[in-house]
Amino acid sequence: MTGLCIYVDTYRYHIDKPMQDIEYKKSIIRDSKNIKYNLEALRPLMGPEELTKFIKDNDNNPQIYTPSKENINSGKYRANLHMHTTMSDGEQTVEYRMNEAQNYAQNHIKDGYLVIAITDHNTVLGAKEVIKVLEQNPKKYKNIKVIAGIEINSIYYTSHVSPRPIDIHILLWAINPYDKFLETEFYKKDYNDKWNIKIPIKDFNEVISNMAPYGIVGIAHPTRYNEDLGNKKYPYITELFTQYKSLIGKVKFTEAYYQSYKQTQTGPLLGNEYDKYINYINSEAKRLGIIRTGSTDAHGKTIFGYK
Ligand SMILES: [Zn+2]
Ligand SMILES: [Zn+2]
Repeated sequence: MTGLCIYVDTYRYHIDKPMQDIEYKKSIIRDSKNIKYNLEALRPLMGPEELTKFIKDNDNNPQIYTPSKENINSGKYRANLHMHTTMSDGEQTVEYRMNEAQNYAQNHIKDGYLVIAITDHNTVLGAKEVIKVLEQNPKKYKNIKVIAGIEINSIYYTSHVSPRPIDIHILLWAINPYDKFLETEFYKKDYNDKWNIKIPIKDFNEVISNMAPYGIVGIAHPTRYNEDLGNKKYPYITELFTQYKSLIGKVKFTEAYYQSYKQTQTGPLLGNEYDKYINYINSEAKRLGIIRTGSTDAHGKTIFGYK
């Protein structure tokens, strides 16, 4: 066993504390096996410590996650913690997303950064590309912080509130995309297999528990795929959040400030009922001590919206 192996073990078993950012970045450089990669170029990469502080500080701050005209013009828009690229089903490349973020931040944010997360579906390729783009442009991304992440499909089985299993997407942030386990689990053998959907869809409990040592694990867009549950969608959220909480000992978050519900809801969730449900999710997250974050879940041309 080398010293490095011991350190990896420490990270995996002490999941109540985030890994130190410097160790996180060193592990990426080491595991990439690219001798040209260096720490200085990874300055804009947000590690688990800095990210944990950022989301905790902004738990009660939906404004920074809301890309309204006013928030964009005033530079109050500060974070988009979930987006897709051509590495899965997004329309733009990782570099394009980072450039758009950098341009916005440079022109609108006077003090501080725009924080973005690249979270492609079921693949580490988007996260690897983040590292590559930063390493190739060590001085370019002065006004942004970037999170290397992944969004993982899972299924939640509940006998209490639903006769059918419910789709849940899980976000994993601040990953080392060169980690052997993640690389093997979320490889992509066929670039055209956009969602890498041939991998077996995994159980919610299993994904949350198994992924906890590899990053910061949270629940994406909690209203989606359960619009048809009627009034049972309320106890469903409470059950889901409680279960999630019981599975994970460290930082917990959910996208209470998800910006793209209106473009992504497919069921009968409209008008007042929609607002009531969103408010319920928000208050349950708060009650259970789950940090509220937000994103546009960008898939289309721009980071400022879903399409
Ligand atoms: Zn999703
Ligand atoms: Zn997504």
